[in-house]
Amino acid sequence: MSAILASLHRSTLRDIATEQAQTLRRATGRPATRTSAATPRRRPLTIDRLNEALGLLHPGRYALRRVDGGIDFLEICQIARGRRMVFQLHGAPGDFRRVTLSVRLQGLAALHIAEDAAGARRLFGEQVGECSFCHSPLTQPRSRAAGAGEKCARDRGIAW
Ligand SMILES: [Zn+2]
Repeated sequence: MSAILASLHRSTLRDIATEQAQTLRRATGRPATRTSAATPRRRPLTIDRLNEALGLLHPGRYALRRVDGGIDFLEICQIARGRRMVFQLHGAPGDFRRVTLSVRLQGLAALHIAEDAAGARRLFGEQVGECSFCHSPLTQPRSRAAGAGEKCARDRGIAW
């Protein structure tokens, strides 16, 4: 879990710093030191933003590369009444077990996946060799590259 934190902490700290700079700029009318064109606007992490990120993502399994070169495996699960949760997957591929994350870590993981969901799915497919959605073995190179079998991808409107 601390492995995820190492790479994800920074993005939130950056969010907060940017937000503070923008608030200061609005309050003082002074231009920011960096131009807004060079700095994409980032909002602070809130429950609303977590739900927004999770709502845009397909439930399924993803992989994120950490700053230290390791890889974290994650699963977005649909739970009761349309709510979603992010779990970290521990153990070996084929024998994963779900580990509960704090809401904060779920949010950070969701935002990281949302930055490049196709890439996170592809990394999962390459590393684990299973479909992100139904966990069937992926035998075709094209399926591995998509992180999903053809039917699962097309059912969800994902490029395959
Ligand atoms: Zn599948």
